[in-house]
Amino acid sequence: MFFLKILVINAGSSSLKYQLFDMDTGAVLAKGNCERIGDTTGVITHKRPDAEPYTATPALPTHDEALALVLDLLVSPEYGVIGSIEEIDAVGHRVAHGGEKYKQSTPIDDEVIAYLESIVPINPLHGPPAILGMKACRRLMSDTPQVGVFDTSFYANMEDFRTIYPLPYELYTENKIRRYGFHGTSHRYVSAKAAEMLGKPIEELKIVTCHLGNGSSITAVDKGIAIDTSMGFTPQEGVPMGTRSGTIDPTVIPYIMKVKNLTVDEVENLLNRQSGLLGVSGLSNDARNISEAAEAGNPRAILAIRMLANSIKKYIGSYIAEMNGIDALVFTAGIGENDRNMRQMVCADMDYLGIAIDEEVNLTCPRGSAANLSAAGASVQTLVIPTDEEYMIALDTAKFC
Ligand code: ADP
Repeated sequence: MFFLKILVINAGSSSLKYQLFDMDTGAVLAKGNCERIGDTTGVITHKRPDAEPYTATPALPTHDEALALVLDLLVSPEYGVIGSIEEIDAVGHRVAHGGEKYKQSTPIDDEVIAYLESIVPINPLHGPPAILGMKACRRLMSDTPQVGVFDTSFYANMEDFRTIYPLPYELYTENKIRRYGFHGTSHRYVSAKAAEMLGKPIEELKIVTCHLGNGSSITAVDKGIAIDTSMGFTPQEGVPMGTRSGTIDPTVIPYIMKVKNLTVDEVENLLNRQSGLLGVSGLSNDARNISEAAEAGNPRAILAIRMLANSIKKYIGSYIAEMNGIDALVFTAGIGENDRNMRQMVCADMDYLGIAIDEEVNLTCPRGSAANLSAAGASVQTLVIPTDEEYMIALDTAKFC
């Protein structure tokens, strides 16, 4: 079935990340990132296993030039890994938002692009660059199948009483304001891996997955179906994040606007870029810096960490209630995979719910690999599983070859 080569593209507003997979072995043949697209000088970093990274600063006026450069590098005699572009069997695109329409990964055609363009008003940050990436690939690789893999698809089966906001119903029917959920590709990947690690079919498991990175979300996966998740209409809802507030009392927003005399854009910037760990600590959005400051006794760093751990704990508890139980708790992404102290704080005093971790294992498990942290006798398996959204996208894409 395999022997396929799949290119995974993740297009941002000024960046284009890529990974070329050999699906026979799952190996990454090459990966890299084009940054500062649209600036006077762009930057490309191109990496292959066992080779020095290649970097250059070419002009990258649009995503087309960035993709053309990536394709040139992939086939170049000096830095390439394939003989010709025809060796790429398909391209998988990371798409944050598939709206209400795309409930699973889907081959990209004019209709998909037209629909994604129609939902740009509810996805203004991530929609336009993803569409640019797809259009560039369709122009430069017109014979290669393109597949959209949507972060929202994993939540397609969330029931309406979990997706509706308690607002006038017309805001849903007319403006599509509802909860969609994000990071679905990561939650899907780690929940499947958890079932694999536990040697049980996912259909028999109740799992809570905690994707804790710069952006963070928690998902309840019941028998393989995501039944609830912390992110909603946008990735702003849920636990506090690096610079995003997560859930707050909505009335705080108009109040801040009044007392600080802020415009809509300014308050949006405050909630998205100046809040969360950065806002509370006043130091950094990076959990590592905050941990260091907390260890040195900085009271606001300690406050930020306790606030985050408590919020994660509350979501876990509420999802256990929603699923009427839990078999596995999974930590993933930058903080989940690496921050031992955060895992310890989240799992502390949860023995009533069957969650208890072995402190020694938590402290000594090697970074970057999967581990079972559960203490002897704990009824819940607490796992660390490195996420791999790109590989999940490649696996989905390969199904269309
Ligand atoms: P993104 O959401 O951008 O993909 P990541 O999943 O890479 O983010 O997570 C970034 C976060 O992970 C940062 O807050 C970073 O401080 C944190 N992180 C990475 N490594 C460590 C570590 N060793 N200890 C604590 N936090 C870490």
